Amino acid sequence: MITTLKTDITVKDICEGFVYNELEGKGLFGLSGRLTIQPEYQRNYIYADGKKDVAVIESILKGYPLGLIYFNKVSDNALEVLDGQQRITSFGRFVTNKLAIRDENGRPQTFNSIAADKQKKILQTKLLIYECEGTESEIKEWFRTINIAGVPLNNQELLNAVYSGPFVTLAKEEYSNSQNTNIRKWSAYIAGSANRQEFLECALDWVSKSNIGDYMSCHRYDDNINELKTYFNSVIDWVSTVFTDVESEMRGLEWGRLYETYRKQPYSPKEVSQEVQKLYADPYIKNRKGVFEFILGRSTDTKLLEVRVFDEAIKKSVYAIQTAEAKEKGISNCLLCAIGHDANKTKIWNITDMDADHVAAWSKGGATDINNCQMLCKTHNRAKGNR
Ligand SMILES: [Zn+2]
Repeated sequence: MITTLKTDITVKDICEGFVYNELEGKGLFGLSGRLTIQPEYQRNYIYADGKKDVAVIESILKGYPLGLIYFNKVSDNALEVLDGQQRITSFGRFVTNKLAIRDENGRPQTFNSIAADKQKKILQTKLLIYECEGTESEIKEWFRTINIAGVPLNNQELLNAVYSGPFVTLAKEEYSNSQNTNIRKWSAYIAGSANRQEFLECALDWVSKSNIGDYMSCHRYDDNINELKTYFNSVIDWVSTVFTDVESEMRGLEWGRLYETYRKQPYSPKEVSQEVQKLYADPYIKNRKGVFEFILGRSTDTKLLEVRVFDEAIKKSVYAIQTAEAKEKGISNCLLCAIGHDANKTKIWNITDMDADHVAAWSKGGATDINNCQMLCKTHNRAKGNR
């Protein structure tokens, strides 16, 4: 890979022909059309938060260095931004009056409304730019290695870079575009942000059964994303049909896995809804995220719910009562050992050798309070199960 340091390119040069796509939130072109600011393997523009983007402008005005920028030289007349896209898009938006900063008095100021000397200062600011020339794999390997502009690339952003091509471009149009009105609906089930590729990652995770890299490699040059879309929509349709209520704990669950496991089973959405409401009202359930899989599995795997256990104070107090009574009667303080026929019939267990048990099982409506607590030896407690 050949790298050349350029120190004579100014903000003005870059902003010549700057195009910003408001809809997709992307800086597209600059340098009179020679520079592609957002090549398809680049991440989306994430500086548009009124802080990071403004900080770029303020840095320029104060004469602070903007840091190194890297261009990939694609041909004699074509460059792509490899690193620096966020900074370039920020000053590009400012110079083209699409971003305002605030003056000393807190009033918003666009480029057109600031003093001429400040305008000049911005436009004449020279940038430190490395132009790099190499094979596609060299450039991408390097891109994979560097830490981009303070915000490290996440895993999906790296995969998008490594497997860039028509498939990624189409997939990003669908799943990484925060203007896509479906994102709001999907965000009931998927955690994260479209901009950081988390919806795309989720869609790929589902269709590939968690082999995202392999899947992207196989489909890299596809000119459609039909399979990805169809599968994704099937999962979303299935979830929203089975669970008619949208609860916040549904966000980010492994819906792809649940769909594969349970999609062939019939459910009554009405009964499911009643079950969800019942479990949500149960104060003993610590893990509401487990409610959905619990119901899909016909309400048997109580481990998913992390039902609250008896606290130490209750255990100690029940142990003391049971042990005192047992000693008086000359029987075991484990209620089940006491009615048995072996040597443990009269054994007084230590509290550390016993566990608390629900007399009436939680799954049958038994409460987790002192009146429903009994201490059993560990063996009997384990044998009883179904709590
Ligand atoms: Zn026992």
